[in-house]
Amino acid sequence: MNQVSLTVPAPAGMGIMSIGVPEGSGIEMDLRLESVVEGVLVTGTALVQLAGECSRCLDPITDELDVDLQELYRYETTDAHGRPTGAIEQDVDDDDQYMFGDFLDLEPVLRDAVVIELPLAPVCRDDCLGLCSECGYRLDDDPNHSHDVIDPRWAALGTLGLAEPGSTGPTEDEKEEG
Ligand SMILES: [Zn+2]
Ligand SMILES: [Zn+2]
Repeated sequence: MNQVSLTVPAPAGMGIMSIGVPEGSGIEMDLRLESVVEGVLVTGTALVQLAGECSRCLDPITDELDVDLQELYRYETTDAHGRPTGAIEQDVDDDDQYMFGDFLDLEPVLRDAVVIELPLAPVCRDDCLGLCSECGYRLDDDPNHSHDVIDPRWAALGTLGLAEPGSTGPTEDEKEEG
């Protein structure tokens, strides 16, 4: 068994559209490498930096994310001389990870672990008010922000009293229910 702590630069493209791990930012990993019959079992944690954009107000967001890693890296099939044949067993699915000689590639495992934890609609704060839908003003700067001028399409509804076409107001039955 082997205990490893290392910090590596993040590869490109680890993330989703709204938020992700900046390329080259430090990824801190604490890993335990355990030799088992089929290969090497890797367990541990990785701490990654996140950068993105608030889905409501578009402000930049920075954050950290701690993910758990666990993956079995199988030994490659070897020939009679112990050299890797490059072939993999038939009955395993494509998601399985393999040792390449003495190396194992953590990137796909780390990438999957990180991406699944990323919020689809990240926010700078849970109660972020976002932007005014009419002028783009940041509502956090003034929650009372409003427009005196009502959109003409809505103003027309005002003159109708929001009545449905053909009705002249609540019927006697509806009044009793209400
Ligand atoms: Zn925000
Ligand atoms: Zn506005």
